[in-house]
Amino acid sequence: MRAPPERDSFTHPGLERSLMARRKKIYEGKAKILYEGPEPGTIVQYFKDDATAFNAEKKDVIDGKGVLNNRLSEFFMTGLTQIGVPTHFIRRLNMREQLVRNCEIIPLEIIVRNYAAGSMSKRLGIAEGTQLPRPIIEYCYKDDSLGDPLVSEEHIAAFGWASQQDMDDILSLALRVNDFMSGVMLAVGIRLVDFKIEIGRVYEGDFQRLIVADEISPDSCRLWDIETGQKLDKDVFRRDLGNLTDAYSEVARRLGVLPKSNVAKPTLIN
Ligand code: UDP
Repeated sequence: MRAPPERDSFTHPGLERSLMARRKKIYEGKAKILYEGPEPGTIVQYFKDDATAFNAEKKDVIDGKGVLNNRLSEFFMTGLTQIGVPTHFIRRLNMREQLVRNCEIIPLEIIVRNYAAGSMSKRLGIAEGTQLPRPIIEYCYKDDSLGDPLVSEEHIAAFGWASQQDMDDILSLALRVNDFMSGVMLAVGIRLVDFKIEIGRVYEGDFQRLIVADEISPDSCRLWDIETGQKLDKDVFRRDLGNLTDAYSEVARRLGVLPKSNVAKPTLIN
């Protein structure tokens, strides 16, 4: 017998949002809302359907995106934990929410590139899709009002955003995430072109350590089908290449992440 479908906010985000109203909101970002968690040191991440691009100049609501990203981020973070890469993920709570560890986010976007694309192609005049001689790490200062500018390790050290020890740890985390994500994707016929992660600091007694935080999803990666080159990530939205939910569902389907009952579409009755 097939298991009953999980209570689904896929079609009722409004209902779930009203249930959420009792929780204390900590922060609302472009794609997620953070609420106080049930225990100290925890946070609930709610994945919205909102999509934004070009520093929120382009906006839309994409049905089902939040559900897919919640599942996909769970999948990647769980896999990372299993290979010993520390992450903020504790457990998924429901279709749109996950419980995560509260951490102090380092104000940097860590970008790892395996192939040239996007802003790097523009900046350096390298054709999109050119394989890079080795993975290249870039850092952007997280500030929407400035458009998240590219910064060097000199800026990071001089302004005290992260210490030299932090930078060593960030580099090694970023490369481990890259190896893991590249392998997982390659196994399902997808090329990991580039991605962005955020890193958080947690305190354990007298010690502190860095963990992978925020989310890992097709919103923050470039994913191209190896055979056809078809884009299966947020560029579908940024560049108007088709239906974003279909692209993300394809990634989830290949990874075996999404239960089939959740992708069913309404049947038209003639
Ligand atoms: N990225 C992201 N959030 C940002 C900026 C970039 O998740 O605020 C991701 C983006 O999806 C891509 C990678 O980081 O996978 C590199 O993005 P790029 O610098 O090429 O920026 P874009 O072309 O998206 O402006």
